[in-house]
Amino acid sequence: NAKAAGRNTFRFYSQQMNEDAVQRLDIQNRLRRALERQEFILHYQPLIDLGSTRIVGAEALIRWNCPDLGMQPPGLFIPVAEDSGLIVNIGEWVLQEACRQARIWKDAGHGKLVIAVNLSPLQFTRGNLVETVTRALTDSGADPACIELEITESILMKDTEQVLATVRQLHAMGLRLAIDDFGTGYSSLAYLRRFAVDKLKIDQSFIRDLPTDPDAGAIVRGVIQMAKSLKIAVLAEGVETADIAHDLVLLGCDYAQGYYFGRPMPAEAFAELLPPPRN
Ligand code: C2E
Ligand code: MG
Ligand code: MG
Ligand code: MG
Repeated sequence: NAKAAGRNTFRFYSQQMNEDAVQRLDIQNRLRRALERQEFILHYQPLIDLGSTRIVGAEALIRWNCPDLGMQPPGLFIPVAEDSGLIVNIGEWVLQEACRQARIWKDAGHGKLVIAVNLSPLQFTRGNLVETVTRALTDSGADPACIELEITESILMKDTEQVLATVRQLHAMGLRLAIDDFGTGYSSLAYLRRFAVDKLKIDQSFIRDLPTDPDAGAIVRGVIQMAKSLKIAVLAEGVETADIAHDLVLLGCDYAQGYYFGRPMPAEAFAELLPPPRN
């Protein structure tokens, strides 16, 4: 009967929730040890200038090489790291490691490469981001102009004095600011201006649908025109085919990133894609 079924359903859900909670706790504990055990690694995905089709930089994307669970993509552990606050320490490691790599590539003669680093909202609110970034730059000797910080629209939407002050300081230090997954949030043109954003990364959901969905085309065209008039650079995320890349060139998009040009890969593999330096 219905009552029994209801009870069973409840038991099923509560058991499921319990298992999820246990699993999250387990991941949390493993994450806590992962930093000291050096189980994180950054992979690098090429950023392409659509005009010249040259590599102009790389986005640093974290992976977790967990001895028990295997290689874990960020989608599986970043949310847990954010819930537990561990993301502040992990994010600090990411900045240190990305700056260290930027310095290595600069010394190898690839001085113009831009390294993009993803930031979590918690790094703005809980960590001392300016201090952390300053230390990463000083420890590595990386050029601030080679580091681009990727933030999501949700950070701009907070629009607190603290976030604004932090962004202004980072800008003054010479770093660049990109808006990640643009189009999926609710930021307005006013935010883009106030925060002096340098680059918009159009979310892959719009890019993927370019060949088939006229609305996606209209949105991408609109974003590119708007960005151009605000003197903000535009990058298309998730470019998987030559057709899409071609469409983007016609639309006047500046930069692209996606499996068509290259997947995220270890630093050594990425370096092999670079032209021999002329130094
Ligand atoms: P994101 O910053 O938007 O990064 C782009 C994601 O799209 C990456 O997934 C990348 O591998 C994937 N991608 C790139 N090209 C294509 C394509 O052509 N097709 C498809 N289907 N996917 C493509 P990944 O590496 O799994 O990272 C997922 C998300 O995790 C990132 O999205 C970012 O939000 C977050 N993340 C990654 N590294 C870090 C980090 O160091 N710190 C923080 N806070 N978040 C990170
Ligand atoms: Mg990103
Ligand atoms: Mg993105
Ligand atoms: Mg994305």
